[in-house]
Amino acid sequence: MSAVGTLFRLQQLDTERDRLRARIKAIDGLLAGPAELRTTTAALQAAEKAVRMASAAASTIKDEHTALDNKRAASEQRLYSGSVKIPKELQDLQREIESLAERTRLLEERQLTGMLEEEAAEAARAAAAAAQAQCAAAWQLAAAALRTEREACDARISAVAAERTLLTPQVSPIHLTLYEQVRTAKNGVAITRMLEGSCGACGIAPSATRIQEARNNPDPVKCGNCGRILYAA
Ligand SMILES: [Zn+2]
Repeated sequence: MSAVGTLFRLQQLDTERDRLRARIKAIDGLLAGPAELRTTTAALQAAEKAVRMASAAASTIKDEHTALDNKRAASEQRLYSGSVKIPKELQDLQREIESLAERTRLLEERQLTGMLEEEAAEAARAAAAAAQAQCAAAWQLAAAALRTEREACDARISAVAAERTLLTPQVSPIHLTLYEQVRTAKNGVAITRMLEGSCGACGIAPSATRIQEARNNPDPVKCGNCGRILYAA
């Protein structure tokens, strides 16, 4: 292969590697999951938190209820035990029992509201879970395809790198430096194939002399217009 031919192959490999890297970056972005999945997952987490909070509130009310029941039972036991004989004390005890009964009634109202809230939170959680599961199932297929594609990209990058490693020593250091410089300056494309007598990159036809040089010169010849190396094979 001519020196320029080898550079052209190098360009093909580098272009492919650039494309593969860009695709891998895009796949990694896509693998973060679609916005809909993130939204439904966040909604499910919020619904789960609401269920935990409603359940904790119900548990607190239940404890309060038990405490009130115990207190009232103790007071009633004292009242009916006959140990309290002073009328004023008996009256106070009676009032305390009534007060405890009223507090229990109010607490039971809160308990009922709490149960309804707990049921509503649980229903919301079930709906959020169903929506999230549907979204996750659809995403699973897409994600599997993306992971397979990513593996293929990785494998191809390795193959490209291996061929590049074999090719690079065949290029003179001066030509390699020129290639890298032009590639950096020209948006990744240092060398272009001639198409029907014109530069394949900018479309301008070089002079007949320059085309002749590009064909026969062992050193790279650049397009007079865009400055890329011409490959005239
Ligand atoms: Zn050109």
